Amino acid sequence: MNTDRSHALFARATQLLPGGVNSPVRAFKSVGGEPFFAQRAEGAFLFDVDGNRYIDYVGSWGPMIAGHAHPQVLDAVARTMRDGLSFGVPNALEVTMAEAITSIVPSCEMVRMVNSGTEATLSAIRVARGATGRSRIVKFEGCYHGHGDSFLVKAGSGVMTLGLPNSPGVPAALADLTLTLPYNDFDAATRLFDEVGSEIAGLIIEPIVGNANCILPRDGYLQHLRDLCTKHGVLLIFDEVMTGFRVALGGAQQRYGITPDLSTFGKIIGGGMPVGAYGGRRDLMSQVAPSGPIYQAGTLSGNPVAMAAGLATLDLIQAPGFHDALERATHALCDGLETAARDAGVAFHTTRAPGMFGLYFREGPVQSFADAMGSDSAKFGRFFHAMLERGVYLAPSAFEAGFMSSAHGETEIAQTVAAAREAFAIVAAG
Ligand code: PMP
Repeated sequence: MNTDRSHALFARATQLLPGGVNSPVRAFKSVGGEPFFAQRAEGAFLFDVDGNRYIDYVGSWGPMIAGHAHPQVLDAVARTMRDGLSFGVPNALEVTMAEAITSIVPSCEMVRMVNSGTEATLSAIRVARGATGRSRIVKFEGCYHGHGDSFLVKAGSGVMTLGLPNSPGVPAALADLTLTLPYNDFDAATRLFDEVGSEIAGLIIEPIVGNANCILPRDGYLQHLRDLCTKHGVLLIFDEVMTGFRVALGGAQQRYGITPDLSTFGKIIGGGMPVGAYGGRRDLMSQVAPSGPIYQAGTLSGNPVAMAAGLATLDLIQAPGFHDALERATHALCDGLETAARDAGVAFHTTRAPGMFGLYFREGPVQSFADAMGSDSAKFGRFFHAMLERGVYLAPSAFEAGFMSSAHGETEIAQTVAAAREAFAIVAAG
């Protein structure tokens, strides 16, 4: 596989961009080697600047649930941009987007659009703190909620990959306000809330942990957290930046039947354009400026082109049976990979939610952050590169969830499994 052009671009990039990239996990640090540079993308495929084609299981880290460059999304963007790129006054598409989100996710009675998942989560905890008058927040080991100061404590994939348990530049006084819990541990949560529940403003969680590979909640765990939060007056915040509109139309909260007080979104609702959103109970959201005193703002928030791309994507995923088909495809892929690994004699396990999966080089089950960390990342690295050479692009980290789209059909899945048979043989050979 020729990668000369990518190599030359990366050489230029490393002179000018930290690590050669604009977001750390793109740099292939944990799997070794160099990233390829995208020329274009279509459906389930990425094409690099050297003309190589990859079946893409990253999907721009989540937004491309309907496949890359979907004609309906591109048309909506092209139509909208002809009227101007940004207005700085309200536009109708913002209202349509708010109506779409609040009707699909009933716990969100009001929403505020922002420009990234990071903005969404840091705004949500500001609301939690402002509304409760409390300062502490709770997060979970291995959960990533963007790079806001309060969240860079035991923060999952990108940070783990770099071996930064906390980031320099985050004041200790602020990090001290973030308490962390082990995900899926019922008793640890009960104990913490019994001790300091009255000081906690909000508990934020990835209901399915997509930033420590892909860890599913144990039966009753999310309800347990809901009950603890209600008992102690703590706001429950579901970070659905990854899971929202993916694991069910109404996200993880619909799939597991839990009503959070606040939710955060990103990725899919921008259809590939930079977008985030936070929303929740009307009494909380109406405390946000200008209707209330909790300040949060954004020059480009509610950008018309981003709204158009997101609305077109939301339209596509509301087709009857969309998420069922995504779930079937995810199972087909993961079953195929598990069989291929077994045939090659490689210890391997998968976890799945519709459109989202985890790959582990260890035996299952995987229910905790420690279990996920037990995956053999050296083996993953060999597998990753063997797959890449065979035209399959997986997330370049052993600790990131994979994503599928409606463009991943039987042919792409069969090609992926065929590549995996060879890749597992390479892993088995050591
Ligand atoms: N929350 C979760 C659950 C995420 O996965 C991410 C990004 N992968 C974020 C927040 C931050 O979103 P962004 O990168 O758009 O700032």
